[in-house]
Amino acid sequence: MLRKNRLFTPGPTPLLPAAQTAMASFTAHHRTADFLPLFQRVLAEKKDFGGTQNDVLVLASSGTGVMEASVSNLTSPGDKVLVLTAGKFGERWTGLAKAFGCNVDVLSVPYGQTFSLNEIRAKITPDVKAVFVQATESSTGARHDVEGIAKIVRATGGASGNDTLLVVDAITGLGTTHLDVDGWGVDFIIGGSQKALMMPPGLAYCAVSERAWKRMDATTSPRYYFDLRKERKSAAKGESAYTPATSLFAALGAALDFIRGMGNGDLAKGREALVNNAELCAAMTRAGAKALGLSLFSSPPAAALTAITSPDGIDSGKIVKEFRELFDAVVANGQGEMKGQLFRIAHIGYYDYLDTVGILAALEHVLARTTGRAVEYGAAVKAAQVVYAQALADKRQLVGV
Ligand SMILES: *Cc1c(COP(=O)(O)O)cnc(C)c1O
Repeated sequence: MLRKNRLFTPGPTPLLPAAQTAMASFTAHHRTADFLPLFQRVLAEKKDFGGTQNDVLVLASSGTGVMEASVSNLTSPGDKVLVLTAGKFGERWTGLAKAFGCNVDVLSVPYGQTFSLNEIRAKITPDVKAVFVQATESSTGARHDVEGIAKIVRATGGASGNDTLLVVDAITGLGTTHLDVDGWGVDFIIGGSQKALMMPPGLAYCAVSERAWKRMDATTSPRYYFDLRKERKSAAKGESAYTPATSLFAALGAALDFIRGMGNGDLAKGREALVNNAELCAAMTRAGAKALGLSLFSSPPAAALTAITSPDGIDSGKIVKEFRELFDAVVANGQGEMKGQLFRIAHIGYYDYLDTVGILAALEHVLARTTGRAVEYGAAVKAAQVVYAQALADKRQLVGV
């Protein structure tokens, strides 16, 4: 049968056709009126997308570049920082903070789990300069309680005038999770273009609080390209410090237009609709997997992706390979120590009902072939249908209803 190549990976994610065409023929010099209005509009609209009034900066790098920028701009060598880690991306925070000479305290929980707020509370003393965490840990599909963590951080250190900063890697969290950046007091939140924005890799962005800007005046870690104060100064004049990824800005403009359309002309509403869409795709997928007797790997599960534990005795690599060979569908294996033990299906960005039902129907065949077990065809699809029908009845979580 004809097969279409489709990505079900938690980044890169499927591309929005309008974003692809917008960038395909885009040429403009970045210091001219051919580009500057687009740059300025995108920076302004990114605030609505992020749900924040804080300054937003967009840089040419993968997500990790701006994760590094948060460490190099907000810390000095020897600073005590707390890293909350529950997977590969949490471990990246540890690596980055150590690379910049921080005195790193690590609160680690097993892959697939999330943190106890009480344990976090015990770790955050006023001498902790910054706390680093993921909104969703893409390696395991677990959701972390950013609101709960923010409450603890904001309650600590303020009185001594030595505010602890909260830095959130929301690279898979933005556009899949309802986040109140300003209301909760998140100081530095990070996103990437190849996730919920439905466009290629190459841009990373952040929203920076006043508290974080103030910190940057005192920190001494080395930085140059990622000197955010320089970037902010240029942005205030309506341009970027260095050559921006102009064609990716064209794609980003189109993606923001699409998201605004999801909100019937209101970008903030469109962002909510995009989050609800991911939530519904994820709920359908969880129900489908359970109906096939599979177990979910993480708790609580994020809407960004669903990590499914491989059936006993089956290397998840076999499942990933079968998806590819039968359907040309790309799902993700486990990362690091979880390789072979789980597979991941993403719901970030440009996924709809038909994608979700399709991947679940495919999963039924993949499971039958890799396990040799009898699979009741339609079981996963039926369970997903029930979830969808309920959402339809509730008129919630539905784009365009
Ligand atoms: C994708 C992702 C990143 C960024 O990875 P890059 O390859 O540098 O873009 C960071 N954190 C999380 C949680 C991610 O999902």
